[in-house]
Amino acid sequence: MQTKKHSRNPTAFMKEEYQDLVTKGFDWRLRTLTSGSDPRCLVDGKKVIMLCSNNYLNLATHPKVVKAALDATTRYGAGSGSVRPIAGNMAVHDELEKRIAWFKKTEASLFYQSGYAVNAGLIPQLAGEGDFILSDELNHGSIIDGSRLSKAERGIYKHSDMADLERVLANSEKYRRILIISDGVFSMDGDVAPADQIVRIAGEYGAMVYIDDSHGEAVLGEHGRGVGEHFHIEGKIDVEMGTFSKGLGVVGGFAAGSNDLRNFALNKSRSWLLSASHPAGVAAACIAALEVMETEPQHVKQLWENTHYWKKQLASLGFDIGNSVTPITPVMCGESHTAKKFSDLLYGMGVFAFPIVFPMVARDRARIRSMITAGLTRADLDEALSAFEKGGKEVGLI
Ligand SMILES: *Cc1c(COP(=O)(O)O)cnc(C)c1O
Repeated sequence: MQTKKHSRNPTAFMKEEYQDLVTKGFDWRLRTLTSGSDPRCLVDGKKVIMLCSNNYLNLATHPKVVKAALDATTRYGAGSGSVRPIAGNMAVHDELEKRIAWFKKTEASLFYQSGYAVNAGLIPQLAGEGDFILSDELNHGSIIDGSRLSKAERGIYKHSDMADLERVLANSEKYRRILIISDGVFSMDGDVAPADQIVRIAGEYGAMVYIDDSHGEAVLGEHGRGVGEHFHIEGKIDVEMGTFSKGLGVVGGFAAGSNDLRNFALNKSRSWLLSASHPAGVAAACIAALEVMETEPQHVKQLWENTHYWKKQLASLGFDIGNSVTPITPVMCGESHTAKKFSDLLYGMGVFAFPIVFPMVARDRARIRSMITAGLTRADLDEALSAFEKGGKEVGLI
């Protein structure tokens, strides 16, 4: 018979910590889609207008993108069989990287399993012992995680505050390398980083610039190439990190930049080296999404028309919609229970818009983050607006 040396229950913390989250209202309750992520879709069995996906151009269900995934799957199979450095590098992966470099106007690129995998795998290699990572205070959590995996010293500058960035840089001579990291578009507020100024200031201090353009691609710039195109600084950002999981409608991350960057990243990023490559269907769908970006410019145009209309109408109803300049449109609610109640009311009226609460945003800055996509019609937007008006009155926001 087994004798017990300690009386502790080794897994009791799971239930306890979960219960604590439930009590505070910080637990995640999953909604389930039973259709594709379309402007009108099925969520928990109910027909709703989708207002919280990152699928800005609705490419996730674009026929050309879907067909590319099917064709490549038929030809190459469902899985790649290995990590890329051993036996999982397929012709579609190579081709996709050439297309990404073309899209971002860089020499080269490296395709990763996700945007998260880029930040977690590359940032700790770009800066290590004796180096300095300087990060905007509102950067995405995956940048924070990547920085935490590094042995570099870490500093924070005030949100998009270039004077504060220079203040921190002024004392940075002692470091071997300096890496400045910023989101291109900030995911919770929808404002754009002054990437042109960051590049200029970094040049003066001999620092590297890393821009996470996850919410910029397919959105910013005349051709939807992201923050580089928006500020006409293409090719001047040392590391342009991006993802296919948002506006490009598929999944997978990338780092675009020089050939030197690609060689370095490929040989050093542990997330890339130690985790299998995407199935060919994913890579082929990504290629098709970039092709659609090139041949069907109407989607980006429509995205912006919808965005302008939506923001104008919401503001005229009296909502506080923050200072977003992109399709990310926060509707400020203050306390998290207001945001949650508002979201439930909207869902009841057939509008799926998710509440964003602490710890993603400050405790008193809870919001409904409405996300506009190109495929929403004027009728969809008007129907959603009338739900926002009714719900907003009921929770006392307007
Ligand atoms: C979504 C997002 C990521 C993660 O991208 P995935 O491809 O979904 O892993 C990284 N950074 C920012 C700013 C993001 O918005």
